[in-house]
Amino acid sequence: MSEHDNPLFATFARADLRVERGEGVWLVTEDGRRFLDFTGGIAVNSLGHAHPHLVAALSEQAARLWHVSNLFQIPGQERLAARLVEASFADKVFFTNSGAEALECAIKTARRYQYVSGHPERFRIVTFEGAFHGRTLATIAAGGQKKYLEGFGPKVEGFDQVAFGDIELVRAAVGPETAGILIEPIQGEGGVRSAAPEFLRQLRALCDEQGLMLIFDEVQTGVGRTGRFFAYENAGVEPDILASAKGIGGGFPLGACLATAEAAKGMTAGTHGTTFGGNPLGMAVGNAVLDVILADGFLDEVRHTALLFKQSLASLKDRFPDIVEEVRGEGLLIGLKPRVPNGQFVETLRRHQMLAAPAGDNVVRFLPPLVVSADEVREAMNRIEAACAELSAGSSESSAA
Ligand SMILES: *Cc1c(COP(=O)(O)O)cnc(C)c1O
Repeated sequence: MSEHDNPLFATFARADLRVERGEGVWLVTEDGRRFLDFTGGIAVNSLGHAHPHLVAALSEQAARLWHVSNLFQIPGQERLAARLVEASFADKVFFTNSGAEALECAIKTARRYQYVSGHPERFRIVTFEGAFHGRTLATIAAGGQKKYLEGFGPKVEGFDQVAFGDIELVRAAVGPETAGILIEPIQGEGGVRSAAPEFLRQLRALCDEQGLMLIFDEVQTGVGRTGRFFAYENAGVEPDILASAKGIGGGFPLGACLATAEAAKGMTAGTHGTTFGGNPLGMAVGNAVLDVILADGFLDEVRHTALLFKQSLASLKDRFPDIVEEVRGEGLLIGLKPRVPNGQFVETLRRHQMLAAPAGDNVVRFLPPLVVSADEVREAMNRIEAACAELSAGSSESSAA
């Protein structure tokens, strides 16, 4: 459809692909082509497409009850919250429909904690360059990226950005009005940039010393993506508050804000709310996602497959040093930094019927469903290798010319 007749906001530069259905890690277009999906709905389709357990859970719930509102008790919420608490640092959970809303809840929870702790003056949050926290007015201010802030009026007050990874800069940015520190353990949209475990430990110590809330944005890294239930386990550092979304719903719009009981103590009746968040459909799917991800051995398998994938990419880098500059990431959140524009790399892959997602810092992200098999990783490697060979031939032609 041409831009002119398209009734949609022009906010997305969409690829010319019309997907009709999905099966596991495969997407089938309206014209019958099959694509290997290593975009995974941007880290959302944690169990792939049309996973039978998710389809059954959603269908069964759809026939029974869709929505009642948070004026009433919702057993599925209590069950999912209890399971998230059991699997994490948290004691309390608030459900949302998206990542940005989970972040909004996290920011409000941190501010409110300071307010009820006798520090109403503490509302500022330290954030990091290259961060992405969503597209609401507060989360674009938290992310601090000019391209997302421009033209939308005054930036929401209360976010102080520093370079990613330097504890002295964080220390200098903390003042009497600081309520907390917000960080992605691995920046996803920013280009799969991992925070050093030591840096996260230093942030934890600084928060403890100054009475600040440590907030992790695990919207992209959480729920198995890095081979652990949450990425903070890799560093052994627990936050006070955590935002989750994307993979937790496996494709159903679902997010959650997790907190310790202490951190959540200001979030009393009437302070926050949502119409759709935590509705029975979302809870049925979220519980079904956890049935699979928390099953014995599942995350071991993810780590195993991820290692195979990463080792294969490392050997590809050795064979195509002219095309692959770097491979980085954790688990099945992997970034390949090409020496050609990332958009060109993604398009070349697409011609080989494989899908990947661009990210900042000229990175190509691979975010396959967590159920991807070793054979499917090998198939992906064939296609990535073919793309590299094509790009390499192209670049030697252009340098010969
Ligand atoms: C995607 C993402 C968000 C925003 O989530 P939405 O569901 O798009 O609102 C926030 N933080 C991180 C780290 C993300 O990857």
